Amino acid sequence: MTEKSPITDAAVADVWRLLDERVQAMEPQRMPLAEARGRVLREEVKADADQPPFDRSAMDGYAFVPDKAPAKYRVIGTVKAGEVAARAPGPGEALRIFTGAALPGPGLAVLMQEEARVEGEYIEVSRRVEPGENVRRRGSDARQGDVVLAADTFLAPVELALLASVGAVRPLVNAIPRVAHATTGDEIVPPEAVPGLGQIRNSNQVLISVLLQGAVNGLVPAQNIHQEHWGDDPEGAAARLAAEPFASADVVLISGGASVGEHDYTGRILEGAGFELAVRKVNLRPGRPLIVGFRGRQIAFGLPGNPVSHFVCYHLLVDYALRRLRGLDKLVMRKTLALSEPLLDCANRRPTYWPAQQKYDWTTKVMTIRPLPWNNSGHLASLVGATALIVVPPETKELPAGSLVDTIFLFGG
Ligand code: AMP
Ligand code: MG
Repeated sequence: MTEKSPITDAAVADVWRLLDERVQAMEPQRMPLAEARGRVLREEVKADADQPPFDRSAMDGYAFVPDKAPAKYRVIGTVKAGEVAARAPGPGEALRIFTGAALPGPGLAVLMQEEARVEGEYIEVSRRVEPGENVRRRGSDARQGDVVLAADTFLAPVELALLASVGAVRPLVNAIPRVAHATTGDEIVPPEAVPGLGQIRNSNQVLISVLLQGAVNGLVPAQNIHQEHWGDDPEGAAARLAAEPFASADVVLISGGASVGEHDYTGRILEGAGFELAVRKVNLRPGRPLIVGFRGRQIAFGLPGNPVSHFVCYHLLVDYALRRLRGLDKLVMRKTLALSEPLLDCANRRPTYWPAQQKYDWTTKVMTIRPLPWNNSGHLASLVGATALIVVPPETKELPAGSLVDTIFLFGG
């Protein structure tokens, strides 16, 4: 879709298609390990050496070339992890050895210290011991050049530790978009304030801040580079939009003012700043006034200010764009599930994305979906526990318990 006039009543799927066409994945980048968490590896990583790199003892004990049992061995020295033994034990000799220490020669076994009877400088071994017992062989985990992590692996703590173990300290990972966010409206006061008549506390700011951190599923969706609040002053807001960090952020998010009222300036200032507005309204509930604009590689979203609309539109569209920018292949996680409870009074002209929570029954091993008691787009409390949205087709009056519904997960992998 490249036509100049914005789509004014786009279906959510139309906006997804538009984002597919217009939003390209950012170039992957190399990052230090600790900063690579929550990203996706963009290269195959191979073992730089055999793992473990030498035959090593799996126990604290005694190393010797096993003889028939019972047998006596003279202890000729000690080797602990990180040390190199002066020489390998010969026939009838043993080396006191500790976990992780390198074995000084082939054919050795390690007997756990609990099994050895110590007699002066000798140990007595009463049972038959096989060569290689309690020895972790060089290369038994991976051979030099073996792939230890495939491209497109999600980097959680264990994967980062594995990268460290093979010396891959600057892995190539997906870039994350830099997002600058403004909330708008003269009626909005900080959460610390006691609102006067007509005032509303700013709840969208912390919502976006935490959603961008992606604390929910471990993936890091974005870097929240800046948040601030703009009053209903279009000139002031336009000046801020022209300044850093809005001028160069990968994604500009503006909460509120996306509609067509006199004080709704989001569309106007974005156009004034040279953004091409590709979407002005989306055919969904809760939501509808929703702006998508493009300027070069920058994307701007104007989200409806009402908290439920804001939350739903963020997930359906902003999160989708952030996934595209990061080059992920899973953009929407959806599944058909049965309603655990009826969904009543849901009739509307527009498709509704109804806040819901998926439930897993460990006895029957069945996942169902429970609609949350939602009644209007400002009803933030109805979102408590929301993990999914039920897609309710237009003009659906009610859905009985057990109905199969299209469900979109909010915090997918
Ligand atoms: P708007 O989209 O600017 O027309 O805002 C619609 C309504 O959403 C406002 O009347 C406020 O009640 C609410 N709202 C707007 N911005 C915020 C915000 N940052 N936090 C909480 N509620 C908001
Ligand atoms: Mg407003």
